[in-house]
Amino acid sequence: MLTSEFELAKFRGQFPILETSINGRKLHYLDNAATSHMPQRVLSAVWNYETTARANVQRGVHQLASRSTNAFEKARENVARFLNAFSSNEVVFTPGTTASVNLLAHSLGSRFKTGDEIIISQAEHHSNYIPWMMLSERNGVTVNIVPVTTDGRISMRAYREMISPRCRLVAITHVSNVTGAVTDVKSVVDTAHGVGALVFLDGAQAVPHGPVDVRSLDIDFYAFSGHKCYGPTGIGVLWGRQDLLDELPPFIGGGGMTQRVERSTTEYFTGYRRFEAGTPPIAQAVGLGEALAWLMELPWDNLHLRECRLMEQLLEVFDSTPGLKIIGPRDLDQRLPIFAFAIEGMHPHDICHLMDQQGVALRGGHHCAQPLHRAFNVSVSTRLSLGLFNAEDDIIAFSTALRSTIKKLQ
Ligand code: PMP
Repeated sequence: MLTSEFELAKFRGQFPILETSINGRKLHYLDNAATSHMPQRVLSAVWNYETTARANVQRGVHQLASRSTNAFEKARENVARFLNAFSSNEVVFTPGTTASVNLLAHSLGSRFKTGDEIIISQAEHHSNYIPWMMLSERNGVTVNIVPVTTDGRISMRAYREMISPRCRLVAITHVSNVTGAVTDVKSVVDTAHGVGALVFLDGAQAVPHGPVDVRSLDIDFYAFSGHKCYGPTGIGVLWGRQDLLDELPPFIGGGGMTQRVERSTTEYFTGYRRFEAGTPPIAQAVGLGEALAWLMELPWDNLHLRECRLMEQLLEVFDSTPGLKIIGPRDLDQRLPIFAFAIEGMHPHDICHLMDQQGVALRGGHHCAQPLHRAFNVSVSTRLSLGLFNAEDDIIAFSTALRSTIKKLQ
């Protein structure tokens, strides 16, 4: 698959947005770590749901209500299969990774007290940083931050020195949204479980690159967003081991989460339902379920080889660009195709603006990871992130546009 021009064209043909033109030019979309795009199959699933099944879920008895509930729960089953969860009862739909972390920080966090410790890292997106700082302000829990190494990896040495039996939770990114570095999850988990701490992984940047196995990772909680993995915006997941979910207090209160409500007592459902008060983003969940079903059918060995080939080509472009410094590891072994870079004397916003005029979509700024940028003595960077539909012609367009951009900014 994707070994010939024809197969690649067919694969790219699944993404209608790639036909749109930017400033009269072909779109070279290289901002997938921010938001990726939906293949026709996902768009059709959302359309079919909206036109044949739209109704509220888990409430009505009429035909549309049961179609809607079935579609919603099928999506949950797809998430469970994608994550190799023990049961779909462990899959909580949320509006996204940010909402998932906030849910966990409020619910699990309410069990922590002064003297307890949480470990996060300097590589975290603000979504997995600020909610823990806010928790610390609420209940006095200490948040310790593992530094990164000179190539932007989470320092395992510092982590082992930092962790103690006071640690209740290690909340860490699976893949960095800036450096593309993949965390050594096994070492993180073995050490955390060794002192009785739980492990939460922020999987927002890992999930777009293939199915995840929460069982073999041996983690306790996982989160990701639909819009980065070829699904709709406004939907995400918090996965948690059911024994843990069942004993955690709910975060948002409202309809659909309770078995019985009386003046003095409220009995909550077990599993995901206690965390899904109110009408959920149903069409978005259906779209996410379809995106994950699509991802599960792809030939991942082949795609990973392709990603590596494109990363090698990108490194050649970076290496031949004077004054360009990559923020993150170079070795392709333990990284994904997310590259942040700085070019001496040039602001990322200027670079992105000029690149956009040539049809190349990049991201410039701190990417909601200011502590990580500080480790590299820069405040901002330019980021290029590949999606499954990107190909060699995108790298060539990037390289050509970068050369002319640099000329203009010099
Ligand atoms: N974590 C990581 C690693 C991310 O890259 C992002 C999105 N940039 C988030 C969390 C937040 O995701 P969302 O905005 O979809 O809630």
